[in-house]
Amino acid sequence: MPTVPQLSLLLGRNWSKALQLVDQGAVHCFQGDASGRRVFQVHGKSGQHMTLPRHYCSCQAHHFECKHQLAARLAWILKACPVTPVDDGILANMLLEA
Ligand SMILES: [Zn+2]
Repeated sequence: MPTVPQLSLLLGRNWSKALQLVDQGAVHCFQGDASGRRVFQVHGKSGQHMTLPRHYCSCQAHHFECKHQLAARLAWILKACPVTPVDDGILANMLLEA
């Protein structure tokens, strides 16, 4: 298990910003009823972003793993975000509107 200093070295500034978002309760998970797919909504300084960790974020920094994606992954692993079950059609519309 990596230590916090090791993770900070590897993940840089995004690590601390992502932890702040998790700590502030800025991450919310929506999980499809049938598919089990998860989409995360992260409220950052620049607004609300829809995030598929490791794949996509609606912010402008999504070409690299941004702080929103990292915050979503951390929040899920730490069980630090509420999870709202939704119909898969609603989940798809959330992504289309992101
Ligand atoms: Zn982002």
